[in-house]
Formats: sequence, C-alpha cells, structure tokens
Amino acid sequence: APQAEAAARVTPMMEQYLEIKAAHPGLLLFYRMGDFYELFFEDAEIASNTLGIVLTKRGKHQGADIPMCGVPVERSEDYLHRLISAGHRVAVCEQTEDPAAAKARGNKSVVRRGVVRLVTPGTLTEDTLLDARANNYLLAIARARSSSGGDRFGLAWIDISTAEFMVTECTGGELAATLARINPNEAIVTDALYNDSELGQILRELPAVTPLTRDVFDGATAEKRLCDYFAVATMDGLAQLTRLEATAAAAAVTYVDRTQVGKHPPLSPPAREASGATMAIDPATRANLELTRTLAGERRGSLLDAIDCTVTSAGSRLLAQRLAAPLTDAPGIARRLDAVSTFVADSAAREDIRSILRGAPDMSRALARLSVGRGGPRDLAGIRDGILAADQALARLNEIDQPPQEIAAVMAALQRPSRELAAEFATALAEQLPLIKRDGGFVREGYEPALDEARNLRDASRLVVASMQARYADDTGVKGLKIRHNNVLGYFVEVTAQHGDKLMSAPLNATFIHRQTLAGQVRFTTSELGEIEAKIANAGDRALGLELEIFERLCAKALDISEDLRAAAHGFALLDVATSLAKLAIDENYVRPEVDGSLGFAIEAGRHPVVEQALKRNGEPFIANACDLSPAPTQKSGQLWLLTGPNMAGKSTFLRQNALIALMAQIGSFVPASRARIGIVDRLFSRVGAADDLARGRSTFMVEMVETAAILNQAGERSLVILDEIGRGTATFDGLSIAWAAIEHLHESNRCRTLFATHYHELTALSAKLPRMFNATVRVKEWQGNVVFLHEVLPGSADRSYGIQVAKLAGLPPAVITRAKSVLAKLEAQDRGQTARALVDDLPLFAVPSRAAAEAAPPSETELLMEAVKALHPDEMTPREALDALYALKAKL
Ligand code: ADP
Repeated sequence: APQAEAAARVTPMMEQYLEIKAAHPGLLLFYRMGDFYELFFEDAEIASNTLGIVLTKRGKHQGADIPMCGVPVERSEDYLHRLISAGHRVAVCEQTEDPAAAKARGNKSVVRRGVVRLVTPGTLTEDTLLDARANNYLLAIARARSSSGGDRFGLAWIDISTAEFMVTECTGGELAATLARINPNEAIVTDALYNDSELGQILRELPAVTPLTRDVFDGATAEKRLCDYFAVATMDGLAQLTRLEATAAAAAVTYVDRTQVGKHPPLSPPAREASGATMAIDPATRANLELTRTLAGERRGSLLDAIDCTVTSAGSRLLAQRLAAPLTDAPGIARRLDAVSTFVADSAAREDIRSILRGAPDMSRALARLSVGRGGPRDLAGIRDGILAADQALARLNEIDQPPQEIAAVMAALQRPSRELAAEFATALAEQLPLIKRDGGFVREGYEPALDEARNLRDASRLVVASMQARYADDTGVKGLKIRHNNVLGYFVEVTAQHGDKLMSAPLNATFIHRQTLAGQVRFTTSELGEIEAKIANAGDRALGLELEIFERLCAKALDISEDLRAAAHGFALLDVATSLAKLAIDENYVRPEVDGSLGFAIEAGRHPVVEQALKRNGEPFIANACDLSPAPTQKSGQLWLLTGPNMAGKSTFLRQNALIALMAQIGSFVPASRARIGIVDRLFSRVGAADDLARGRSTFMVEMVETAAILNQAGERSLVILDEIGRGTATFDGLSIAWAAIEHLHESNRCRTLFATHYHELTALSAKLPRMFNATVRVKEWQGNVVFLHEVLPGSADRSYGIQVAKLAGLPPAVITRAKSVLAKLEAQDRGQTARALVDDLPLFAVPSRAAAEAAPPSETELLMEAVKALHPDEMTPREALDALYALKAKL
C-alpha cells in the first residue's frame, strides 16, 4: 500500500504542469525551467520526433517514467518555427515570478508559472517565424445553414503582423475558390464544421485548421466582442458587417486575444471585400497556371516569381495579394495602370524611388511587434527610418508633374506620420542598436541626463576595477593577476595555480578570500571588490531601468500614431508595386493593356511571361503569337479556338500565355504582347494536364472530369476558359466523344471565350457547324524525316500528329519506331476523320438545353414522390394520420 501511495503522489511541480496542460488542449506545452523550455509526456515524444532532439525521462508519474525533452530558451525560435511549420501549435509557459520569491514562500513551493502566449501558424509576429514576402493570414470561417441546402459562409481574415483585417461572405460553391485566394496559414472553425464530411475535403487543402468550441462562433455575442476589441460602443462607425461576417470577425479577434494572452494587437477595422470585385479563380486553375507556386510546389518558375521585381517585403506581399485577386472593374485597373505608366515614362523617378524604398524598413511589421510587447530597439529605429524615407520619397514624387490618382493618394499617405516623432526617435536612439532591449545600451548619450549620470557612475566604477588590478598585481608581486567577472562569482581575482598558495597564506590571505580552485587557476574575492561590484550593479540597474522606461515611452508614442504609420507603410508598398511593374515592363518589353467592359479579347504578338524569361536565359527567342477571341468572328478569329498540333509544338504554352496575359492586365500590370485589348474577365477556368490526385484517391481521368464538369456548369459569357487535351485519360472513342460534346456545350450554352487544345484532329470538322468556332494549329515542319517545331500559331488544322517523330526525338529504339510506323500506316487506312465528318452531317447539333428550360422542365415522378415525403412531419401526426399518409404514398406509385 505505501508503494501505491508513493506512485500516486504527484509532485507539486507536476501538479502545476498538468493543470496548465489541461487548460490548453491540442497544444504542445513549452514549460519554462531555467534556461530551457521542457516538454513532457506525449508532447515530448512529438517534439523529439519532429525536431530530432533527444528524448529522456524525468521522474515518475503514476509509477511510470515521464518522457521529457527540452529546448534551450535562446534557440527556441528556431524550434518553434519547425514545430509550427509541421502544423503544431504551442503554448509558451513562463515563470511569472523570481525563483527567489518562491523559495521565500517555503521550501516546497513551486515557482509561479503562466502561459504568456499561444504560438499558432496564423498568429505569428516574429520576423524569424514569418515569410517576409507573404502575408500570414488567420481565417475564421462561420457557416449559416439553410434548409434549402444553400449554405452561406462568413469569412474574416487577419494578418496580425500587418494589422490587415478583411471580411466577406460567399456561397458553398464559391468557398473553395475564395479559400484558395485568401491562402490562409491557419483557419479556425467550429468543431461541427471541422467534422463535416463535405467541408472536410476543402478544409484539408489548408495548411492548418483549428477547431474551436461553439461559443467562439456565437452570433449573438459577436457584435459585443468586436466592440470590446476595438473599444467602441457600436461597430456601425467602423464597418457595416452582415451577421455572418460579424460572427466570423468576432471569432477571429477572440482567437487573436487568446493566442496573445491579454495583449491587444491593434487591427484595422474590418474591411469588406465586395463579392464580384475580383476575378474568380478556382484552386485547380490557380495551381495549373502556376500563379504563385509551380506544380512542383516551388516559388521559382511561378508567374509571381517572374514578375516580382519589388525591393521591399511589403511590396512583395502586396503584389502577391494583387495576383491572388485580379480586379474586375475597368476604372480601378486603369488607376493602377496609370501609376505604372508614370514610372515607365519617367525612368529617373522610378530608379530614385526604388533606391529610397530599398533602404526603407518594414514599418507595419515593426509596429505589430511593438504593439504586442515583442518589439526591440531596432523596431523603433525602423519607425524612425520609415518616416525619414517617407520624406525622401515625397520630395522625389513632388517632382512628377500631374501625378495620377494612385500616386497622389500615396503622397497623401506618406504625409501623415508625425515628423516630430521621427526627430525625437533620432535624438533618443543610439547609432548601434542591440537586437533586444533587455540589456539596454540603445539610448543615445545626451538624451536623458539622469541616464547619463547613472551610466557615468557605472563606467567610472569599472575604471576603478581596472586600476585595482594594477594595484593588486603590485601588492602581491604576481604580474599575471587578473580581475575578471562571471555570473556566479561576480568580480574576482584570478591567478595561475602556481601563485595560488602565495595568496592563500599570510599576510595576503587577510585580503584575498579563496573561492575556487580550477585546474590551472585559483580564484579569490576581496571585500573591496564586493563593494565596488554593488556600486556598479546599482548604477547599472538604474541605467537599465531608465532605458526601459524610455523604450516604453517611445513605443507608446509610435503606437499612438499607428494608423498614420500603417497608411504610410501601405503607401510604400503601393509605390514599390507600381515602380517594380514599370521596371518589369521596360526590362521585358511589355505593353500597357487596354481593359474595358466589352467581351473582346485581342492579343497581338503575345508571349508567355515565364517561358520567355526561361528561354531568354538560354539565349533562345520566344515566338510571339496572336490570339483573337472577340465575339464577331472573322477569318482569323472566333470565340472558341480549337488548337491542334503535335506534342511539344507549344499548345499548352499558347493556352496559358493568353490566360496569364488577361490575369496580368487585370492586376494592373503591363503585359507581354505588342498590343492587348481585353474585355473584363470575371472568371478564369483552366483544365490543363492533370496529375493523378492519389492523395484523394482520384485517377487522372476523374480529376479531369471533375474539373471539366465545374467549367461546363459554371462558365458564363464573361469567363475565359482554357482546356487542354480533355478526354485524354480514357479510351479514344470515349475521349473523343466527351471532347466533342464539351465543345458543343461551350459554344452553344456557356458562350464563353475559350481556347481548346486537343490531339483529336477529328474535332476540327465541328467548325463547319459552329459559327464562332475557329481552327488554329501550331506549325511544325518536317526536315529529313525529323520534326522541327516552329511554335507559330496559324489558322487551320494539323494534318498529322507527328507522334512517332517526337518519340524518335525522345530516343525510342529504332526498331520500335519502324514497327510503329507500319502499324500506323495500317490504322490510317481506316480513316477516323471520315467518320467524324460524316457525324457532323448526320448527327443533329446536340441540342443544349438552355438553363431556363432545364429549370422549367416538369418534375419527374420520383421528384414528385420525394416532395410528398418531404412534406410529412411524423412528430406532428397521429398514428391514424401516419397510416393514411402511407396509403396515399402507395397510391401515387
Ligand atoms: P504542347 O502543349 O504542344 O505539347 P508545350 O506548350 O508544352 O507543347 O511546349 C513545349 C516546349 O516548346 C516548351 O517547353 C517551350 O520550351 C517550347 N515553346 C512553346 N511555345 C514556344 C514559343 N512560342 N516560342 C518558343 N518556344 C516555345
């Protein structure tokens, strides 16, 4: 029995640990013990696995060893970073009192500890944990169920490192595309949503999803929680939110509050993103077009990488935001293009502004760190340098005559922050600044007399120590005597072992008190040293205290004008984007696109921005190609282009380049073409060379069909659709038939601007029936039995596929090539094209039911029965009524 009792006994420390751990379910607990954060039990196992650090044991709990591992506090950020990247969340628990205070309370008492913050992927503020070039969004998703099946979602997303706060509402169908655009680092949802089977699919695409209890998403208390956060009586003055948006927004700020444990990072008031203001691009299209990542997952080789010439991280973040959400209003696009044009025309202004920006710090992130108490002296300097850079930029912008609207707005923003603040910071801060404030040394001499006095006292005493060393050396006759300092002994006298005895015997032992004997040295203290040490420590403490007070004062001043500072920081980002796009336009020879409300689409001499740069690096030219998808068909155009040509000819490149040109135009960038007229594209769809999605258990063909279905169901006349090789993943005739029907549907029902690449030459016959369809082909020529790719897109259709020639280029054995040629000759004798041409004549044009007609169609028998069953409410019926209802149903059959 005594044994069992001992096993059940929990040490006071373990008791405290378990209590704190229980209050933070789902998080790894970093439990501060001296210079380490320690993890126990399962946490220790997870951390040791993820971080590759040693798993040990410490003590026993309920008779079993307690697994334990620890990370040094000094290097904890690196470990945090790796845990967060691996999708974990961490609660950081610190000692909240001096260990001496705990000792004073009694021998057995444990140092008080408390969780000071939760580190989660969506709520980071440390530079070391953040990617400077990307926003770090926390997204809250609130759902409103509707009995008719059309659920709606309220979304609110926050970047606490820059204070951005956005909200929007969308339908279930739009959710995936919206999430892909926002691209959050962490999403929070209710437990119910987290476990919802349908949504699970979509949520699993996100890097981290955190389920929370229902109260966080309680609509009834949402407004109140928002008001509390913004310290206002009503939200009406800040933002007009729908109930769903407010619910999501309140959940987001509640979570921010929880993770920052009582600190209140300032946020901009929530801004609504109007639905339809941006081009809808679903996740598959984003991935296929490699907008921000290649299909292999790298930034290099993506469109963003190719067009990003920004010089600041805030500029890079803004460009990525714009690319994720191209505009759909022509005037808004024109305003952005005007700013770019200004800097295209004025190279001197562009280069001057870029060099000013290069030296400008990331003010919004400095501000965010200061606001949550994690800022350092260099963040204050960042604010100072930011304001100075704003002055320089303003001076340069003033030289531009008649600046367009966007530049004028930037100038107004740069004007805002107080210049006195910058001047004060300049006099207060030292030349060389330490990274952290803890040890002081960042306030300039001459700024505060009391501080100078304390520092002089401290330094004078240090001089005294230096002169003491000389005196002691004289007194003892030990030339090599040194006075040194460490944290254990404080100041001490050190001599080599051979002189140790001398100091330990009379008369010197009256002055020198022996403290420590090491292998080669002996250490002593003296009472005189003790006194001077106390003086130094006092003066040092006083100096440090004063410095920290000054830090808080300056920090408060910066936070007072945080809105002005953020406006200026945004102004810098806008300037960076405008000047960098101008530089890109000049370097890459891009042209200003003409964007309007028409349904036109006419690109002259268009190029693929990424492929062109890659070829250029190898010294090879890119062959420019025109594309006209405007509604009125001509001999050289049509709204639906059917593109044929052998593999490797450049079909995919051509398809993608036209989509990318539209996208670039609508973010307000110049485009790789000699001329581009584009009627606003409201949705962009692409289905290009799918890869197996084995993770989700779908074959290539299934993925392809799901994506094609989305396009045929959703594309409208303002959409731009690119389809590459649909039907490839199945048997030839299946594939051909599906492609055939899809083209008819796109032409007759969707009526969108479409580029359709295919290897089914038979499809070209369809142009005889479909007036707005146009056949184009990528030219190749045969030369000495080999195929030469010319990459020129011309009217007409490919006469052959050259598959065997391409196979030969790829190095298939000659015997296989010869055999393939003879098989082909046999097959070609039974001309499939003939059949297709006959089909066009025989098969009446596939009658596409118009949407209205489909909706007006009379309900089927099954549908009627289902309606009848739905109308029954068993709970409200008597047994008799229930029986009658059953008979009535039976009679309907
Ligand atoms: P396809 O889709 O017809 O199989 P791709 O579009 O993948 O062909 O192009 C194959 C290769 O040809 C590309 O990787 C690129 O290097 C080159 N290419 C394509 N289009 C052009 C062009 N217009 N000018 C120069 N090279 C091109």
